[in-house]
Amino acid sequence: MADIITSGDVGLLSGKVAVIGYGSQGHAHALNLQESGVTVEVGLREGSNSWSEAEAAGLSVKTIPEAVKGAQLISMLLPDQHQPQVYDEAIAPNLEPDAALLFAHGFNIHYERISPPAAHDVIMVAPKGPGHIVRRLYTEGKGTPALIAVAQDASGRARDLALAYAAGLGAAKAGILETTFKEETETDLFGEQTVLCGGVTELIKAGFDTLVDAGYQPEIAYFEVLHELKLIVDLIYDGGLSYMRYSISDTAEFGDYSRGNVVIDDHVRQNMKRVLDAIQSGQFANEWIAEMDEGEANLKRRRATESDLKIEQVGEKLRALMQST
Ligand code: NAD
Ligand code: MG
Repeated sequence: MADIITSGDVGLLSGKVAVIGYGSQGHAHALNLQESGVTVEVGLREGSNSWSEAEAAGLSVKTIPEAVKGAQLISMLLPDQHQPQVYDEAIAPNLEPDAALLFAHGFNIHYERISPPAAHDVIMVAPKGPGHIVRRLYTEGKGTPALIAVAQDASGRARDLALAYAAGLGAAKAGILETTFKEETETDLFGEQTVLCGGVTELIKAGFDTLVDAGYQPEIAYFEVLHELKLIVDLIYDGGLSYMRYSISDTAEFGDYSRGNVVIDDHVRQNMKRVLDAIQSGQFANEWIAEMDEGEANLKRRRATESDLKIEQVGEKLRALMQST
């Protein structure tokens, strides 16, 4: 079992921190760090829509090269696809000789899409929650747990710097876990592909289609396989699998034990292993990089067909009704 760390010395961030990007993670990191006493400058493209938003929130905003110049630490909070180009064009030429680079996800370092010179610390602080939660919990005096990792330790205190940044985000209040860029990247990809995003959406669609194909009303199917999922996940989140099972009826619990592994059988476990193999071999990363290089045509096509599914149309109608009551 891993140790859980509950402290970091924010004072180690005595210079300027350049937060590049003001999206989901960027806004949370910039505001939390600034309120933790760190000197923050947000780096954005000229003409960025976020520029006035960040200034209105009380932050200093510069172009990316200006924010990077003089910074002790550069936090890379752009979408993963765009990081390599922005790094090459606007960040690398302006880095101070001993500046540290920080990532919130390991993809670009692990798959060597960005390879900073050895003189720079390369660290990760990956909050285990969406940026808006990272911000909200901080304002409530709480924190979001985070993973830290070190890919390059040029200064000899890269780990302490990662802990300092994590503490500045508020993560020390919730717990900081140590990992590696490899472990974080591979497990993050695995989780989103097999369980959280890919697995859950396919499970929902399969359940919905099975009921509708058998002649049941789509609205009823929607409630049974999608709407109630949140209620079940909330129970699991609060108290684990056993607490969820304590809360549901004995009928539901008996069905859970006796039918769950009929659906999620050994095939599914073998398929998960194949998906993990493709992550570990780099096959998935190569496929995604090729997709990005080709303008994300498949991604856009799937986005369109998926948003057109019957379950989405039924859901839109029902959610509108529920919100109006
Ligand atoms: P995002 O898409 O919310 O924000 C991107 C920001 O970058 C925006 O300010 C956008 O205007 C700017 N941007 C977009 N393209 C750009 C370009 N070509 N040049 C310059 N600026 C550009 O990103 P995010 O979801 O916050 O992800 C940032 C990093 O955090 C990623 O490495 C991601 O894997 C990681 N992460 C995200 C979450 C999350 O909850 N979203 C959780 C953990 C880790
Ligand atoms: Mg993740």
